[in-house]
Amino acid sequence: MIQRAFIGSLIILSSCFLFSCSKDKPAASTPPVTGGPGEVVGGTYSSDDLLVFKQMAIYGSALRIINKWPKKVAYYIVDTQYDYLTQEVDAVLKEINSLLDTNLVLTRTNVRSESNVQIFFTDRNTYLMAEPDAAPTLYNSTYGGLSYLRQQEGTLTSGSVFVDMERAKDNIPVQRYLVHHEIMHSLGFRGHATLTGIYTVLFYYTLMPYILNYTPFDKRMIQLLYNPLIKEGMGEEQVDKIVKAL
Ligand SMILES: [Zn+2]
Repeated sequence: MIQRAFIGSLIILSSCFLFSCSKDKPAASTPPVTGGPGEVVGGTYSSDDLLVFKQMAIYGSALRIINKWPKKVAYYIVDTQYDYLTQEVDAVLKEINSLLDTNLVLTRTNVRSESNVQIFFTDRNTYLMAEPDAAPTLYNSTYGGLSYLRQQEGTLTSGSVFVDMERAKDNIPVQRYLVHHEIMHSLGFRGHATLTGIYTVLFYYTLMPYILNYTPFDKRMIQLLYNPLIKEGMGEEQVDKIVKAL
């Protein structure tokens, strides 16, 4: 739920500006090879894994700290007229729940006041009327989505997810991509992976919409963020130490 009481807390944003793929991009029928994680040397995560994790979970945060939900998060779909997107959200929440066991429990509620994250499938103006603080980060683009979160000392408190249905109209693959991309952001991944060869829905935007599901690498990153040893508010040094010991 979005409460004015959170006004003093730091607001974090994740803005996604998705552009049409230019003609030198691979054909839609040729999805990118899911890049395997780099070689593991004496532990669960390679140095590339760790770098990408920090790009997604720390470097995108203004304070460069881990942002996580405490134990559970409830989503509310504001715009329920798209049955296939409601089903997509339910499938995404179910998939993430199966990855995270009870470290984080995601639910979908039909009671707005009980929700932590509101999901909007609408146009920019309607979304900004509900979430006016997001305006500075919502730029014009061919397609677009946004995950807007509030946090206190790394603990996520409330937020919203936006899929621009006006711009992605009639393009269901893009809509599906945006649902996966923005919900993954809403877990606390404020940045994007940029390392060549490792593909995630939070990888470079122009892969959109070739990746329509979480890749094995995405799933490892989600599990790492919600590993109980990774605590909200942790900085890079602490995360380095923990991940290298896993
Ligand atoms: Zn993004």
